[in-house]
Amino acid sequence: MKPTTIGILGGGQLARMTIAAAMRFGIRCHVLDKNNDAPAAPYTRYFTQGDPQDYQTVLEFARSCDAITIDSEHVNAAALSALSASGVRVAPQGDVLEIIQNKCRQKIFLAQAGFPTAPFQIFKARIELEAASLKFPVVQKRATHGYDGQGVIVLNSAVDLARAFDGESVIEEKIAIAKELAVIVATDFALNRVVYDPVEMVFDVKRNILKYQLAPAAIDVITMRRVQELALSVAEKLGVHGLLAVEMFLTHQGEILINEMAPRPHNSGHHTIEAAATSQYENLVRILTALPVGNAATTAPSLMLNLLGPELGAEAQFEAMITAALKQPNAHVHLYGKREVRPYRKLGHITLVGERDALIRQYEDLSSGGVIEAME
Ligand code: ADP
Repeated sequence: MKPTTIGILGGGQLARMTIAAAMRFGIRCHVLDKNNDAPAAPYTRYFTQGDPQDYQTVLEFARSCDAITIDSEHVNAAALSALSASGVRVAPQGDVLEIIQNKCRQKIFLAQAGFPTAPFQIFKARIELEAASLKFPVVQKRATHGYDGQGVIVLNSAVDLARAFDGESVIEEKIAIAKELAVIVATDFALNRVVYDPVEMVFDVKRNILKYQLAPAAIDVITMRRVQELALSVAEKLGVHGLLAVEMFLTHQGEILINEMAPRPHNSGHHTIEAAATSQYENLVRILTALPVGNAATTAPSLMLNLLGPELGAEAQFEAMITAALKQPNAHVHLYGKREVRPYRKLGHITLVGERDALIRQYEDLSSGGVIEAME
């Protein structure tokens, strides 16, 4: 194996878990992040403090790397394109990222390629919303700078337009969702593709946070295959190298709609560390180092829950839940080493491996004394 150095733009937990996978292959990772206390920083001696959104900073950082990837979409896409042009192995490519960085461009790409999405319209400013005759309820999404639901709002009637986002946004029909699904596709530079089993995200509607995620999703085999085929087609149409997570809605009528895409390791793939033949992180490393992409088969059903920062006063219960999980043989606890603890901040995750019904019961036992209850 030729020694390869991977540069990662952004040093969050996704970079941290990518580095952990790279370490197994003796591959060195460099990290660029604005914050020298980023979760991935202690995992590498080659940490550069700098802004991944700055063109020159990215080019300078990449000089010591053979391959470049990302931890978050908020990086300079033009710099990625320039690096690809100069022969660096870049996954995802700059032009793919440019589409995905903007929710309006994503929707237009999907619609033009003929992929099913919620019916949508694009607006440049709030004032245009007032003039349009919207069919409420609708969901409004900021074109950029949305994150973990922060840029998403439901507008139930014209009265709600007063609190709508200003600036470029997409307005979508509010879908009656039966299940939220996500599928990850890994594509190498020879365009070999593997697809993971779909996962199902179960939300806490009141708080608008992920309660837990089940893998594989509890859907019939035909739907499972349709969802995987769709994700593979999206990856192919985008021409993306590396990972692509495709989030979808399954409607009560069995319709599958694509919600959004992420061209990087995804929260919905944490469980692949313990519950798939090759983790999403290892596959990204393999792709970046021109190793064969690894088998994506599920090795066991799993349930993944995010460990979110507890609210003030709930710290002891939060710790008790982690301690309880650590005593259970099928529970894999991951902590991201974040020094600053804020309520709802992602501090880690737990993957439970086993039989689905038992996993849900175990989740309920764990969370009843832990953070979920404490946040009431
Ligand atoms: P983010 O990128 O911030 O996670 P998403 O586009 O995934 O934003 O939307 C966040 C959540 O809002 C989704 O997981 C889903 O529950 C809900 N949502 C988004 N779009 C729609 C829609 N068209 N109809 C109904 N619910 C939606």
